[in-house]
Amino acid sequence: MIRDHFKVLTVDLSTGQRTIADIDGRDTVAGGSGLAAMLFEKYGFLGKPWNEPGQPLIFAIGPLTGYFPLMSKTVCAFKSPYHDQYAESHGGGRSALSLRFADFDALVIIGKAASPSALIVGSRQIEMKDVHYLWGTDLQVAGKVLRRMFPGGGHRTILRIGPAGERQSPMACITADTYRHFGRLGGGAVMGSKNLKAIMIHGDASFPLPAGNDYVKVFDKVHADMTDTDMMSKYHNLGTPGNVAVMNDLKALPIRNLQATADPATAGITGERFAEVALLRNAACAGCPVGCIHIGFVRERFQKENRYLYRQISYDHELIFAVGSMLGVMDCFEVLKLIDVAEKMGLDVMSPGVALAWATEALAKGFITEKETLVPLAFGNSSSYQAAIEHLALGTNEFYQILSQGTMKAAEQYRGGDFACVLGQEMAGYATGETFFVSQALGLRHSHLDAGGYSYDQKPKGKTAEDAVKFLVRDEKGRVFLTSMVSCLFARGVYTDETLGNCLKSVGYAKLADDMEKISGDIQRLRWKLRIRTGYRPENVSIPKRFAEITTWKGQIDKTFLNELKEAYGKSIMSMAG
Ligand code: SF4
Repeated sequence: MIRDHFKVLTVDLSTGQRTIADIDGRDTVAGGSGLAAMLFEKYGFLGKPWNEPGQPLIFAIGPLTGYFPLMSKTVCAFKSPYHDQYAESHGGGRSALSLRFADFDALVIIGKAASPSALIVGSRQIEMKDVHYLWGTDLQVAGKVLRRMFPGGGHRTILRIGPAGERQSPMACITADTYRHFGRLGGGAVMGSKNLKAIMIHGDASFPLPAGNDYVKVFDKVHADMTDTDMMSKYHNLGTPGNVAVMNDLKALPIRNLQATADPATAGITGERFAEVALLRNAACAGCPVGCIHIGFVRERFQKENRYLYRQISYDHELIFAVGSMLGVMDCFEVLKLIDVAEKMGLDVMSPGVALAWATEALAKGFITEKETLVPLAFGNSSSYQAAIEHLALGTNEFYQILSQGTMKAAEQYRGGDFACVLGQEMAGYATGETFFVSQALGLRHSHLDAGGYSYDQKPKGKTAEDAVKFLVRDEKGRVFLTSMVSCLFARGVYTDETLGNCLKSVGYAKLADDMEKISGDIQRLRWKLRIRTGYRPENVSIPKRFAEITTWKGQIDKTFLNELKEAYGKSIMSMAG
């Protein structure tokens, strides 16, 4: 049965106190992104540092979770160790359905555990367990132990951190069920600062589906669009790794720290190449009939016993770009090994890839020496990068400690800011042009998914900065509603406004369906207000020189347009937030 309020569980790790509260706001913030922002406003300390024990770590789901396919994301909100401002990170796996079946719309974690702990949440059980023996273990080892401790399939999710999170690196992610992540902006460090190694959510309740034919009809239509048409098939087939060849052909693939945007050698790491030699199987988030998660393998040799083991590692475009083309590693098995090391360490793979690409160029230019890097970083040298990723996660020396705070932090200390490929945070794998660079640099999550800047660069719907700003603001608004529903953004072609309205009505949220336009605008403003109140100023975000030096299929980047667009989008964000 639907609820017209949110059922929110708050756990204080310092005292062990748990509170379950009914909180109003369903008709104003919907869920997901909107709910997370509302809860951060309620529980967060905007002027205090990110690692203050009282700061909340929030997980929120949406009104359609459990009713429709691909409503599979959980929105995680926190104050980011990367910039000490409000942040959102989205992850899938089984997290959303587990929270739904645990019968909560959101989980708010405050306080700090006295010793390394795991939090267990279910509809009939909320408890903390001391897991000090897991502190320092990598994600693979921790995963094995946690799965044994909390057996059971069904709607059970395990969220965990690795050594990078324990060390509170802003590059640390929260891993959900091995193959999905709350990747960016340092959610893993927030868990580390709370002494929280893992969260296990057990979806042990049940709820009835809506009575009558309306829901069944809408569900069947959505399911058919996802499975019987070609709207989603590209995600299942090659998946996002298919973008590697496309971006390379467009001269839009960041290569060797963005010193190039195309290279024939990328043939060794295209989606086609992975599918040919390294793909084992596809996997899916819970309740998703698409299955875009591509899982490859690497062979591990155990010398003592003289035997081999295959290890399964998921890959996608962003990961291949970050530790493949960006590092000049053009062999798919070497890319998988690098992903594997970063995953075990609990690092968001994109950040170390881009950071080490900068370090490689800084070493070649003499800004740093091997005394800092400890290994001979050189584009294409996969074994050095494997060691460097571990150094970065563990903070082996002062250089890696600084670099693990973010590439720009290292550039401030060692020089080389001009070629740091940072757009708010370490860049995503699209060098499509001015609109994308501005969109990621200024975007709320500094994510390629904040708005479709990369697609605007490829098919401009107007030629002025004003046109591009209108597109970015409008596109973000649509995406904000989708992420408040917690839809996987790959489904945005299926979940049009009309379909979303039908879905909401079919389960009983008619008011949400009728007010979608207004609610999305309100959530968009609420998120920006929070970001600004925690210190965001668009004029303080820089776009390093390297981004203006590149050439794409359109020719040289237009610096005048880039600067005009950055200024205009910044003003628009500030005026949107009032
Ligand atoms: S399309 Fe991929 S990311 Fe999206 S819900 Fe399905 S498996 Fe998860």
